[in-house]
Amino acid sequence: MLKNPPISKIILEGREFLIKRDDLIDPHLAGNKYRKLYSLINTPKEHLQTIISYGGTQSNAMLAIAALCKQKEWEFLYYTKPLNAIMKSQKSGNFYHATELGMKHHELEENLYRDFIGSQRLSLDEKVYVIDQGGADSSAREGLSVLADEILEAKLQIDAVATPSGTGTTALFLALALPNLKVYTTPCVGNSAYLKEQMLALHSELPQNLIILEPKKKYHFAKLYPVFLEMYKKTKEAGVVFDLLYAPSMWQALLEQTDDRILYVHSGGVSGNESMLERYKKKYGS
Ligand SMILES: *Cc1c(COP(=O)(O)O)cnc(C)c1O
Repeated sequence: MLKNPPISKIILEGREFLIKRDDLIDPHLAGNKYRKLYSLINTPKEHLQTIISYGGTQSNAMLAIAALCKQKEWEFLYYTKPLNAIMKSQKSGNFYHATELGMKHHELEENLYRDFIGSQRLSLDEKVYVIDQGGADSSAREGLSVLADEILEAKLQIDAVATPSGTGTTALFLALALPNLKVYTTPCVGNSAYLKEQMLALHSELPQNLIILEPKKKYHFAKLYPVFLEMYKKTKEAGVVFDLLYAPSMWQALLEQTDDRILYVHSGGVSGNESMLERYKKKYGS
């Protein structure tokens, strides 16, 4: 695993952006999932036996946890809503790779999630650890302060750091660890109000330096948008491959709504591009 990944430079629309290359940390356990799972990565094997989590079937968090459990020889139980047969038989994508890494998958009706996971927490023995959907866990704070230290040590000429949000765990803890820099984020799952709600479940108040940029248009998570594919191609041509679910919206907001000198923290997720690109190809033929 690559420690303290390098910082690259790209030019987009004539502006220079710095990129913290967290995507290069590891093929499966990279990006913000590496940062969020940092304290578990540093937990001695013997301390745990089983990890339980739940969420989407192509989730990047799922794949990262599967890679972690494989390394640690921990059992990984993952709950999702019922899957169709096509999905189960696919030989690509995060679900396939996570299964290859030993993940044990269980299907659960969606409305049962909350109660079920709650009951798992209550009946836990010490060797079982439950990670909320997307890795929204207060234990993520440690790994994000390590990232903040790496950023500060690089002594960059920047005004702001940027990273896209799902649960907001990454952006929140990064903002708390970098009080003297602006931290830009954008909601990729739901709107700003929902994002704030999720962040407030992790921390009692939102730091002043955390700035949520609302996209000008409404996008639904994991849907296909030609403008997202265009942004993906544009950043790829500029020299760095980003994911197709979160990054396009963040880049769009940064280009349209800011003019600061920005360090973009690559949040990883490029392993999901294979299946996303297939979907774009099927729908739009390119
Ligand atoms: C999980 C993920 C995010 C969202 O991170 P949160 O901490 O949940 O806000 C952003 N980008 C990528 C590529 C991800 O996989």
